[in-house]
Amino acid sequence: MKRINMAEPVFNGREKQYLNECIDTGWVSANGRFVHEFEEKFADFCGTKYAVSCSNGTVSLHLCLMGLGIGLKDEVIMPALTYIATANSVKYCGAKPVFVDSEPGTFNIDPSKIEEKITEHTKAIMPVHLYGLSADMDEINRIAKKHHLYVIEDAAEAHGALYKGKKVGSLGEVASFSFFGNKIITAGEGGMVTTNSEELYKKMKLLKGQGVSSKRRYWHEIVGYNYRMTNMQAAVGLAQLEQIDWHISQRKRVADLYQKYLKGTESLFQMQSVPADCKSVYWMNNVILSEHIKKSRDTVMEQMEQCSIEMRPVFYPMHIMPPYYDRTLSMPVAEGIAERGISLPSHALLSEEDIAYICECLIRIVTK
Ligand SMILES: *Cc1c(COP(=O)(O)O)cnc(C)c1O
Repeated sequence: MKRINMAEPVFNGREKQYLNECIDTGWVSANGRFVHEFEEKFADFCGTKYAVSCSNGTVSLHLCLMGLGIGLKDEVIMPALTYIATANSVKYCGAKPVFVDSEPGTFNIDPSKIEEKITEHTKAIMPVHLYGLSADMDEINRIAKKHHLYVIEDAAEAHGALYKGKKVGSLGEVASFSFFGNKIITAGEGGMVTTNSEELYKKMKLLKGQGVSSKRRYWHEIVGYNYRMTNMQAAVGLAQLEQIDWHISQRKRVADLYQKYLKGTESLFQMQSVPADCKSVYWMNNVILSEHIKKSRDTVMEQMEQCSIEMRPVFYPMHIMPPYYDRTLSMPVAEGIAERGISLPSHALLSEEDIAYICECLIRIVTK
């Protein structure tokens, strides 16, 4: 039997044609038409003035933070439940990530628990649009404004997600995206920063390109980085962006099918709930096993693997892992989601049959 994988990229646009053009013309590094076109079209897609491409979604977070001047002794507020890159990027600046618990329904950062974490060192709030669902941006922006903080969106999992009709990536000072192979669209590896600020845009361009002057060749104005995206990555990314409506509609189709086949299982599983004013892009569909289920999450995943279905645990909260371990912190919601949460296969190639089979196995294993 064919194994059902967690994620699979789909290349059904002009990816090969654009890649061939890179090879045929010799434009394989960071110069070339695709880099500029990808940036322009991605900014248009998000409804922002500017976009800056870079090598991956971790350094794009680093660029956002450096662009805003976040450094030693500064603190950045973020959800405990996220991918580790969110916290690491803050560490790269010598600053401190400060963790906040999740909302029980959306799994996103709980805005009602942000203010108690603000100190004189706090410089920014970095919400994550977890698993494709926008965080509560009005509430986060209200708190940020009141305390004079920047808002940096980690939108790595949420290309095209909507909050009150507006695209993520346009909802704070600056936002970061990833094009890793399992994201909504991919460039192999890749990242993008979006912003409406010309000043930030210029600063991040300088930082990502070794600090080289735009007026004088080989003249370096600051200590910069090589965080550039290659024309080959941009070729794939641009071809994917041309098809993004299709990619997003497939994710919605898969999510609707999970809803259909898990209907009536509310006593077994909790799923991420999408507020009425948000449109998720359903990067991953997750189930949180109810507390009364005797089988451990890891046993359920092992038994699903025996049915040739790949599953993965929901992210571990930052404060329980070695680099950020802090036994004084208690994040009951995030800890509960992480202990009992499973991410289900979520990609564009899943058929209705696949999803019916996944749900049937899952219900059988959990109730046996
Ligand atoms: C994937 C991801 C990143 C980092 O992206 P890479 O391109 O893998 O470096 C950052 N934040 C979140 C929330 C992610 O899911």
